[in-house]
Formats: sequence, structure tokens, C-alpha cells
Amino acid sequence: MSKLYIVPTPIGNLEDITLRAIRVLKESDLILAEDTRVTKKLLNSLEISKPILSFHTHNEHKILSGVIDKILSNNSTVLVSDAGTPGISDPGFLLIRECILKSIKVECLPGPVALIPAIVSSGFSCDRFVFEGFLPHKKGRKKRLEEIGAENKTSILYESPHRLVKCLNQIVEFMGEDRKVCVARELTKLYEEFKRGTAKEIKEYYEKNPPKGEAVIIIEGKDKK
Ligand code: SAM
Repeated sequence: MSKLYIVPTPIGNLEDITLRAIRVLKESDLILAEDTRVTKKLLNSLEISKPILSFHTHNEHKILSGVIDKILSNNSTVLVSDAGTPGISDPGFLLIRECILKSIKVECLPGPVALIPAIVSSGFSCDRFVFEGFLPHKKGRKKRLEEIGAENKTSILYESPHRLVKCLNQIVEFMGEDRKVCVARELTKLYEEFKRGTAKEIKEYYEKNPPKGEAVIIIEGKDKK
């Protein structure tokens, strides 16, 4: 029976690949990868050699039906992204939905994802939270910032390093300078860093110390005083 496996890969530390992920990759017939060069590097480090097909945001619509045919003609196909869990701010959703429609079994392995270590280490409530992923760059951005500003649950945002200060400025503008935030940077890597404080303090820190590396912004809920 054909199956699609969703396999999370390390977000920085290569030791964060699970034993099951390695076995599933070894037993697969085909690997769908966001960037084939990134995935080849990972597979080389694990001494795994498999056919790889490029599957990313810019071709997923176009090649979807061809990919479904390939999944149906194999026993085991694996979807990976460059880092973390496919489908989480990465390609995956479209293919998974189509597999379900075509009655193809989908199995997602648990594994690396940036949002969980970020919120757990933030010190903010993890009982209930809202994952916002990347904010839209233009249209709809202001509305989303206002919604997060009014949110009582902890919110989590993904952001690129060169947009971090702009985003922190907008958090100050839309949520007030005293709103508590945490920036989790370079998770699982050598220079992993957590900066916790008010939106104003964290904004000023990164204005003085331009950030490098990937970052997650965690925002405390509005009424969590
Ligand atoms: N699929 C990934 C996951 O499972 O978390 C997310 C991919 S998304 C394209 C990339 C974003 O995830 C980055 O801009 C950053 O916000 C976050 N991210 C990924 N790796 C990270 C890391 N090592 N440290 C901090 N943030 C990270």
C-alpha cells in the first residue's frame, strides 16, 4: 500500500534527527525535498542514497498530480523540508490534502519544529497558544498585528533576521511598549539565544545588536499580568 511519510529534519543541530526518521528515510523509495541540495547534505551525513524530487512552494501546484502518480506507484514516499516539520510554514499542506482525497495513507513523524522549543523556553503560558507563522509583508499585516494585540493567549510568530527589528517596532506600535515578548534565536545551535523583556527593551536591544540567524518571536497574552 502506498504511503506518504512526513519526516521532520533538524532545525540546526544534526543530532535532532530521530531513529525512526532515519529508518523511514532508509526504507523509502522516493524523497520529495524543498531544496534538493540541503536534503542531499543531510542524506550524505546519514549515508543514505535515494532518488530525490524537488517539491517546493514555486512548483507544488504545477507538479501535484504527477507527484500523486509517483506516490501511488511507490510503497513509501517521504516529504521533507529544509528544516523542521513540513507543512509548518513550509510546503506540505497541499500535498497532504490531495493524498487524503485520494485515500493515500499519510503518516507524520514527530520531530524538530521551531515553535515548540521557542514557546516552552519563553516562560510564557503554554497552556493555550496561537501560532501565527509569518505575518503577511503588506496586505493584512496591520489587521493581524491588531488581532495579536487583542489576544489573551500566547502568540508565536516566525520572522527572518532582517525583518526582526521592523516587526518588534510594530509590536511596540500595535501592542504597547510594555507588552512582554521573547525572541528565540538560533534554536538548537551553538549560539542559541533567548531575549526576554518588554517589547520596547527587546526592540532597543536588537536595534543596537543587529540579529543574525533565524528567530521566533513569542508574545505574551494581553491580560497575562
Ligand atoms: N518548518 C519549520 C518548522 O518546523 O519550524 C519552519 C520553516 S520556516 C520557512 C523558517 C522559520 O522558522 C524561520 O524564519 C524562523 O522563524 C523559524 N526557525 C527555523 N529554524 C529556527 C531556529 N533554529 N531558530 C529559530 N527560529 C527558527
